[in-house]
Amino acid sequence: MPAQLIDGKAVAALVRAEVSERVRRLVARGRAPGLTVVLAGDDPASATYVRNKEKAARECGIRGETLRFPADVDAATLEAALDRLNADPEVDGILVQLPLPPGISAEDARRLQRRIAPEKDVDGFLPQSQGLLMLGEPGFVPCTPAGCMRLLAHAGISPRGRHAVVIGRSNIVGKPMAQLLLAADATVTICHSRTPDLPAVVRGADIVVAAVGRPELVRGDWLKPGAVVLDVGINRTPEGKLVGDVCFSEACEVAAAVTPVPGGVGPMTIACLLENVCVAAERRLGIA
Ligand code: NDP
Repeated sequence: MPAQLIDGKAVAALVRAEVSERVRRLVARGRAPGLTVVLAGDDPASATYVRNKEKAARECGIRGETLRFPADVDAATLEAALDRLNADPEVDGILVQLPLPPGISAEDARRLQRRIAPEKDVDGFLPQSQGLLMLGEPGFVPCTPAGCMRLLAHAGISPRGRHAVVIGRSNIVGKPMAQLLLAADATVTICHSRTPDLPAVVRGADIVVAAVGRPELVRGDWLKPGAVVLDVGINRTPEGKLVGDVCFSEACEVAAAVTPVPGGVGPMTIACLLENVCVAAERRLGIA
């Protein structure tokens, strides 16, 4: 039987409608929440992501603003801008769009990202946020893994007692994803580029999350019949087509449920970012 399609666009629309309602309540108490993105340089993909975030924020009534800097900006200038945003009571959420320009060293880039005040870390990338997630305490959860959990919940799939295999161990997707599944009582295996016999590990999974960045790496015959597959990957083929880390057509023949690319996990990331901005604003008012 073909797999159930988990429709990220539809679930993201529901999350955004909830966000709009929370924004209305915040406006009634004083002001709309504010999200500021710091964008340095002229990377076209970053410019598109930022435009999409700004647009989505505005559609929900969030004040979305972008501070733009030239590619030759120095770290001190960005640091000063972040300090101003940290101190600005009108700004609830701040994020630094990556990658930063090549003139900013990796060490400076890490320092700049960590300059964001923890209570405004709506990306959930700060060590404080990641630590709270590991401890199972309230904080900001990185948006893509949070979106994956929302998709599972919406599809009525509980991770409890299931074996979940997360492929990828990045700090922004793989590791926090594994923490969330663990907190939801799954038994979790994390795989990476040095995992031997990846297909055999994936075959043991009830839930597979692929966050690798390799087009159609995961094949249908890697999957246990009836598995649930969340495909985080976004890859462009030489022909210009967007594909995930999972071979979608093959997965559809074996899995019980699968997310498409595009239209699966992707739309959830921005929706969960907007949700985090609301949480930040509500916490400032002491109502979350
Ligand atoms: P990273 O490059 O930071 O991490 C990729 C991970 O995959 C690493 O842990 C790496 O292992 C592992 N890996 C690489 N090759 C293999 C392999 N052949 N077998 C097993 N594991 C492998 O990527 P991100 O986590 O940032 O992103 C992953 C994908 O998700 C990308 O396609 C990205 O575009 C997409 N993405 C999508 C988002 C969305 O909104 N839908 C948001 C964020 C990312 P090792 O650690 O050993 O190097």
